[in-house]
Amino acid sequence: MQRTTKKTPDAETSAASTEALNVLSAFDFERARTALLRWFDANGRTFPWRSEPTPYRVWVSEIMLQQTTTQTVEGYFARFLERFPNAAALAEADEATVLKYWEGLGYYRRARSLRAAALQVVERFGGDVPERFEDVLSLPGVGRYCAGAILSFGFDRRAPILEANTTRLHARLLGLRLETTTSTAQKILWRAAEDWLPLDVGESRKPNVYRRLNGALIDLGRLVCSPTAPKCDACPLTAFCESWRRDLQDVVPVLKKKAETVARTDVAFWIERRDLFDDCENGGKRCGKTGCDGGNPTDVLLIRRPENALWAGLWDFPRFEIANEAFRDALDFNDDVELCDRLQRFLEEEVGAPPLDRRPGSVVYTVKHAATRFRITLRFCRLAGAEPVEKTLFDALKSAAAPQPLQDVAKKTKKGKTPETERVAAEVRWVPRAELDVYPLSSPGRKLARFVLRNGVK
Ligand code: SF4
Repeated sequence: MQRTTKKTPDAETSAASTEALNVLSAFDFERARTALLRWFDANGRTFPWRSEPTPYRVWVSEIMLQQTTTQTVEGYFARFLERFPNAAALAEADEATVLKYWEGLGYYRRARSLRAAALQVVERFGGDVPERFEDVLSLPGVGRYCAGAILSFGFDRRAPILEANTTRLHARLLGLRLETTTSTAQKILWRAAEDWLPLDVGESRKPNVYRRLNGALIDLGRLVCSPTAPKCDACPLTAFCESWRRDLQDVVPVLKKKAETVARTDVAFWIERRDLFDDCENGGKRCGKTGCDGGNPTDVLLIRRPENALWAGLWDFPRFEIANEAFRDALDFNDDVELCDRLQRFLEEEVGAPPLDRRPGSVVYTVKHAATRFRITLRFCRLAGAEPVEKTLFDALKSAAAPQPLQDVAKKTKKGKTPETERVAAEVRWVPRAELDVYPLSSPGRKLARFVLRNGVK
């Protein structure tokens, strides 16, 4: 009986890599560039950062476009540029102001990095976006793709780029049957991205050639070489495409298996000052008896999200993740001992509330949203109950175990590492209702604020 030899994974990688490199070596870039640019002239997309591609505008757009669609970014770009027209204006603004202008775009770490980078641009480069690859790459929030994009789109420099659209396009053109995030595949793809750009031959080179070629590669990947059902009939590169030749469009690119999404429930609270200091009789003046700080009774409690949490640095309503499976789909959290425990500790230790037993009241509003790999159901509650703490279950819990720091309580409630549960807040603040509009809020926080201001919470 004849035995067939099965290739080892290493041999398969090596064969796929050699195959793609052979296609790359034989690729007729000169003719392909002409075909691509002709297509781009007729079909390329127009964006504000393309029609006026200054390095600063390109840089801001590229940071905004990370994880966000062009359609969404277009709505924010002009407003952001009007408020922060250059790196100096961005560097001068405080973080809260920058976050406010970023609110709704999500992934707020980008906004903080952008501002930190603007400070460096001012301090290290006199306010101008640097033109050397290493300098651009050294800025916070700028990776290899982003540096290439800033140099090619902003300065028309010969700098390759590789993002989702061009990764797919190059992989298909080469018939690359390797998972695209592996280091072997990445080397091949970056080489292809670079080979598409003709050498810079000084004065004889055509203006905007790098800007146009990189824009065309992105647009062709986005508009024609789509993830499913690529429109090969409308593609200017069929004659150069290995996947088209061998009918591999459905198997290339080879993608990494996606991480599974995790469902979780958070409970957030709309808490007014009078909910905690309700026996204050001085109508806004410090009474000294109840921990009242003399503020307005209708002020609302906000927290600033801690580092490493979702929406880090943004303001939000106090929120807690439900750890007990039994309460995942609940509309009443009064019997969730862990939640009541965390809420009570937060109110006493971080807000300075009197030691009364406060519990979750009924759910007034629910928001469902996805963030990174989480699918979050967020239940908003008022507070209920104000019994002396001695009579409560919380008191029984307290006497049964030595007091622990809040962080330890949080760690007990989680199964894996869930950084955002480690601290409830980086800062707590009472905010007049009328000022909620100007606070940079998390997106679910903004929805709750609008809902309550429109409908009330009683
Ligand atoms: S021919 Fe088809 S698979 Fe190949 S690059 Fe064009 S659209 Fe993509």
